[in-house]
Amino acid sequence: MRVYNFSAGPSMLFEETLKETRDTMLSYKDSGLCVAEMSHRSKDYSEIQTEFITILRELMDIPPDYDVLLLQGGASQQFDAIPLNLIKKGKADYVITGHWSERAFSQAAPYGDIVAVASSKDATFTYIPELPDNIFREDTDYTHITTNNTIYGTRYTKLPNTKSALVADASSNILGEKIDVSKFGIIYAGAQKNIGPAGLTVVIIKKELITKELPNCPKMLNYYTQASADSLFNTPPCMAIYMAMLNIRHLKKLGGVSAIQKINEEKAKLLYDFIDNSGFYKNNVNKDDRSLMNIPFLSPNGELDKKFIKESASEGLLTLAGHKTVGGMRASIYNAMPVEGVKKLIDFMKKFELANK
Ligand SMILES: *Cc1c(COP(=O)(O)O)cnc(C)c1O
Repeated sequence: MRVYNFSAGPSMLFEETLKETRDTMLSYKDSGLCVAEMSHRSKDYSEIQTEFITILRELMDIPPDYDVLLLQGGASQQFDAIPLNLIKKGKADYVITGHWSERAFSQAAPYGDIVAVASSKDATFTYIPELPDNIFREDTDYTHITTNNTIYGTRYTKLPNTKSALVADASSNILGEKIDVSKFGIIYAGAQKNIGPAGLTVVIIKKELITKELPNCPKMLNYYTQASADSLFNTPPCMAIYMAMLNIRHLKKLGGVSAIQKINEEKAKLLYDFIDNSGFYKNNVNKDDRSLMNIPFLSPNGELDKKFIKESASEGLLTLAGHKTVGGMRASIYNAMPVEGVKKLIDFMKKFELANK
């Protein structure tokens, strides 16, 4: 029996993706092979990879002067790859809005003059800081933001006006809401939140930013290596890319990003309205900055939080514990979480409140 998985990642995939994977497990088309057994140089695999990139370009309206790289190592590896590839003049600005931007910042620090120009740490990352133009330094190579903060449940609703290429970790909201790619130098994301299974990392990069790497940039992390080999410099995660392709093929069938964004807004509104109108649960995030994808909430005390997490799991509502750094609960409601899953969670929350208040 399927459950509703509220994990921040790896997270739910569309059921259609799983069924299609199952149906092609023993023989993809009439190859007699599972995609996981196939040569990454074969025609069948090559078509899968091309279809993934074609659909992604279409769904995100990626302009022609951008490359799409399919890499490995997660968003975490990009925290190193970005400075190694971009920091030619030696300066970059970072905006700190949570755990992942802190990690991106600290991994970049050894490579140059890296400055945290704004942070919302003073209020446990419950808001996105104001970013007036003059906050950014002159002559930087790039400016780094995290468009959606997976642990703290915030997101940018407007983009800063930066002096250098805007580089964004969009791991937890890519494909969940519209992103104007043309405003960015790089958008990168680990696949396991809202694209497909873990193992694939997507980097969407403006072509003019390729070949600016530091002389000591490792070959495997060099965007030029990967771009000039069409992401086939070494063996890609073929099976993960196949499943990601199926998953975004289904998203396209549902009407693409604008259609899913409407559903995501509806799901988020159901849950936020319920929490805000309850005297029992609360969400501490600044209302204007609330994430559509990750919704943290608290019950009146830590003991009840623990009880909530245990009892909800036994009703098929899985992985509702908040990140260990913040505690409480968190519902991650990415694209593949159906509205019914959110309604079932709210029903459980009502029942839990009645039994424990
Ligand atoms: C999950 C997450 C990461 C870490 O991703 P990995 O692919 O595990 O390296 C980084 N940034 C954000 C915003 C995330 O949500």
